[in-house]
Amino acid sequence: MKPKIAFFDFASCEGCQLQVVNLEAEMLDVVGAVDIVQFREAMTEKSDDYAIAFVEGSITREKDIPRLKKIREQAAILVALGACATIGGVNCLKNFQPLEEVRKYVYGDKADWYETFPTRPIDAVVPVDYYIHGCPIHKDELLKVVKSLLLGKKPEIPTYPICVECKRAGNVCVFELGSTCLGPVTRAGCGAWCPTHRDNCAGCRGLVPDPNTNAEKEVLKKYGLTVDQAVGQFRIFLGYAEVAK
Ligand code: SF4
Ligand code: SF4
Ligand code: SF4
Repeated sequence: MKPKIAFFDFASCEGCQLQVVNLEAEMLDVVGAVDIVQFREAMTEKSDDYAIAFVEGSITREKDIPRLKKIREQAAILVALGACATIGGVNCLKNFQPLEEVRKYVYGDKADWYETFPTRPIDAVVPVDYYIHGCPIHKDELLKVVKSLLLGKKPEIPTYPICVECKRAGNVCVFELGSTCLGPVTRAGCGAWCPTHRDNCAGCRGLVPDPNTNAEKEVLKKYGLTVDQAVGQFRIFLGYAEVAK
């Protein structure tokens, strides 16, 4: 029998689910091997009988919690899909502002209609089995994880930093171009997407395990930059890590 899988979203731009839909030809192989029973962005049919749940988005309000716990109870395997789900992502920017002001800024005189609380990744609420990192997720990595799950294997996700991939690609370091970069402490796996296009890494794949923050500080110092100058960049995706530490 084919494994039944379902996709869910919480606070997100739905760009990671769009990456799934964009798989097109590659997805056909996967679709043949699984039974997708719920995927709001791509289909109208809906069943709550599933074994693998892919969850996109971060948790930003009280009523998200029982919904996420219900998904966790049903799913034998729960996979966090994209930076909003894996690390809190850009939604955590609001955690650095008074929440009442944020609510009024977004919803104006209807602010009281919408509840909010500090944003958190999904593993702050329920246990997560596997993570597909990035903003958005990388299609190749998604396929790799899905294929591993279908084979009953643990997906291999890099634990080394972006700098390794960046150097392998022969890129000019963006520090040499006068920019800051979180590559020394960010988990690889995107092929150093941004530095390859002369942009800095903003950390969307989350921190490596035991990040060497001293190495990051030394690189900043070497190029005459301060930690404060890098903090704004750090908060784009990694704000939850900063608040939670
Ligand atoms: S991780 Fe990025 S692309 Fe994916 S849902 Fe969140 S904001 Fe959108
Ligand atoms: S600091 Fe950034 S640009 Fe420099 S090598 Fe590392 S990932 Fe590449
Ligand atoms: S280089 Fe950094 S910011 Fe860019 S996609 Fe990779 S992890 Fe994300």
